[in-house]
Amino acid sequence: MYPIYRITVRWSEKQPEIPHKLRESSPGRFWNSVCWDAMERKVINVDTRIVQLWREWWPTYSAKFLEPAQLSITVESRDSDTWCSGWFSHWTFDTGQSDLEVLGSFAEYVDRIQRSDRTDKSSLLMGAEDEWRWCAGDRTPAPCRCLLCKQQGIVRIDH
Ligand SMILES: [Zn+2]
Repeated sequence: MYPIYRITVRWSEKQPEIPHKLRESSPGRFWNSVCWDAMERKVINVDTRIVQLWREWWPTYSAKFLEPAQLSITVESRDSDTWCSGWFSHWTFDTGQSDLEVLGSFAEYVDRIQRSDRTDKSSLLMGAEDEWRWCAGDRTPAPCRCLLCKQQGIVRIDH
């Protein structure tokens, strides 16, 4: 099991014309946000991660926004698990498991989540409960061990 953190970043940015559905933070500006789960090999210091995101990730990420301001970054500790969810995909660390071991571990994870009484089951699984959806990034059989996965030291299953 590895510790999982929920990273939430919120800021306001300038928008020449604000669509009605967007909530304004002040005249001519609206709120925007992004949120994702990050799994770590070991427990991290949350404050250090916030500073790191602010210094190393935010400058590049925010370059496309118009006058971003009112930035808030939160990192909350969630449960520990063997798989971390992404956008219609899950990944885990590559510890030398065989494909069969990876698939077995993922099947066990999906089964465990489905049997749990978590209220966020469907957003957590994103279709992973249908085994026929499992594939690698290039639509070949799961798991994915492409160059990008290898560089990150992970194995991934898309669904
Ligand atoms: Zn890959």
